[in-house]
Amino acid sequence: MARVYNFSAGPAVLPEEVLKEAADEMMDYRGCGMSVMEMSHRSKMFDQIIKEAEQDLRDLMNIPDNYKVIFLQGGASLVFAEVPMNLMKNGKAAYIITGQWAKKAAAEAEKYGEVVKVASSADKTFSYIPDCSDLDIPEDADYVYICENNTIYGTKFWELPNTKGHILVSDVSSCFLSEPIDVSKYGVVYGGVQKNVGPAGVQIVIVREDLIADGPAFKQTPTMMDWKTQADNDSLYNTPPCYGIYICGKVFKWIKKMGGLEGMKAHNEKKAKILYDFLDQSEMFKGTVEKKDRSIMNVPFVTGNADLDAKFVKEAKEAGFENLKGHRTVGGMRASIYNAMPIEGVEKLVAFMKKFEAENK
Ligand SMILES: *Cc1c(COP(=O)(O)O)cnc(C)c1O
Repeated sequence: MARVYNFSAGPAVLPEEVLKEAADEMMDYRGCGMSVMEMSHRSKMFDQIIKEAEQDLRDLMNIPDNYKVIFLQGGASLVFAEVPMNLMKNGKAAYIITGQWAKKAAAEAEKYGEVVKVASSADKTFSYIPDCSDLDIPEDADYVYICENNTIYGTKFWELPNTKGHILVSDVSSCFLSEPIDVSKYGVVYGGVQKNVGPAGVQIVIVREDLIADGPAFKQTPTMMDWKTQADNDSLYNTPPCYGIYICGKVFKWIKKMGGLEGMKAHNEKKAKILYDFLDQSEMFKGTVEKKDRSIMNVPFVTGNADLDAKFVKEAKEAGFENLKGHRTVGGMRASIYNAMPIEGVEKLVAFMKKFEAENK
């Protein structure tokens, strides 16, 4: 068996321990004689899996009791529609545009109401986070929306926007569980799980109870996308993505063992520092993002020469470093160094970059 260092932006690397455990339990989950894929979602076995997953997530993120945790399906992109369908009661929302995912979320919300774009970093190809300390947010906006870590461009909100009393909705898909956050500062925290938490297709929505108490914003909201119905049914309104939730649960336990979110933060900061320190002194490779806004999950970089970029990606792949090609809209390279990427993976990548630089002067 040969495992590569997988720098994919998503679906992405998972902890080897989790994969091995899942393999061990594949044919016979804890003596019940079947795989988790084969068991009823109404069974005692699965009930324990989903309840434990929720509790572990609550422990890890310190989620207050007045927040619901729901495991749904459809990925983060379906949440782009769920957000307005559940929350746009005044028919208006403020969006901060810091990249493709925020843009897509805003475009989706425009189908259901008025979207006011209160800030954007489009003027410099999303290479920074705009100043959000004093935005012109309409009084009657139902919420303020951000994409907290911009997977494609490699920026991160290190300070949350001043929402002037409006609730904050945040897409944390690519920084989920990478560090502690204060959930009480948000109305909704959500993410697709395939970046940092588990297999593609599962979405986790953490929503303040009072925001959904009266049901969705529109009576046409599909039942599957109605957060109140889903919360009232403990994510079991229909058959949930059982196997995906089971893997997420294992990842939660792995993170607990690694020291919780404080442990993850230290681990992630260490990896990011190794890579950024190298980029900052390299004469060939350059980071593309304003230093103060750098993500510690997604690190885009370029040589400034498209042919050299392509040569690097090709030779890196041959050396066992996978998925370093930048997003198709940006070019260059991007190393995604999520929770499950070991420090050794980043150290070896930097050693490889040094060697490449020396050989291609
Ligand atoms: C990947 C990603 C998405 C889209 O996720 P899907 O599950 O493919 O819909 C949305 N937002 C962010 C920040 C992402 O990184």
